[in-house]
Amino acid sequence: MQFVRYMADGRARYGVLEGTEVRTATGDPFSGLTPGAVIGSLDSLTLLPPIHPGKIIAVGLNYVDHVKEGGRDRDVPDEPVIFMKPQSALIGNGATIELPMYTENIHYEAELAVVVGKRARRVSEADAYDYILGLTCGNDVSARVLQAKDGQWTRAKGFDTFLPLGPAVNVGLRADDLSIQSRLNGEVRQSARTAQMIFSVPKLIAFISRVMTLDPGDVIITGTPAGVGPMKPGDMIEVEGEGIGVLRNPVVAESA
Ligand code: MG
Repeated sequence: MQFVRYMADGRARYGVLEGTEVRTATGDPFSGLTPGAVIGSLDSLTLLPPIHPGKIIAVGLNYVDHVKEGGRDRDVPDEPVIFMKPQSALIGNGATIELPMYTENIHYEAELAVVVGKRARRVSEADAYDYILGLTCGNDVSARVLQAKDGQWTRAKGFDTFLPLGPAVNVGLRADDLSIQSRLNGEVRQSARTAQMIFSVPKLIAFISRVMTLDPGDVIITGTPAGVGPMKPGDMIEVEGEGIGVLRNPVVAESA
């Protein structure tokens, strides 16, 4: 089952995605959604991020080819490198990524995103999937000049619109070996499989839940493979996750 969130009558609502059609739904994704009438195609709706997380944890440097990208002599981390992105960065499928005017070299990062389904504290790797609701696609938009200058990543990765998420959450999909890809203006830029992650999704859940309690709806974006690069106004960036769909966002310069 896949679900989306959309705006109708000024309210955010969940919908169930069947093929390209969205049905209304009652209930919530944690206790169960019951589909109702068809309300339109995925492309005809104003989609929101498919979940409203309490917190968003991001994993850096989780694919060897990205760690070494650009000839950098960085060590492969011996523990997951985690940071956080603000809720205010979230946008849904189709919404515009706004490039801040005062910096440059702003990159896309295609990532598999995990949605937490149950409160998780000190969960074992073996039990991790019991705490996962499903998977979606994320784009960890990153301002590289500021990332290098600041030494930590809150500003560089925290601008409004810097976390496209969606289009839908695939409930129960396993993350072991899925393709993840980005395309800039239709041209493939990143193409990897989640099996290449340095720290698998169950390992990440075990690691993060020893640091902080994960609550239903929290989102973990799991790191990006090689092939990151800059976006400019007028571009269209797409992230496609196997079994999930295509997260598509146009890029604009921020308005003054
Ligand atoms: Mg990232």
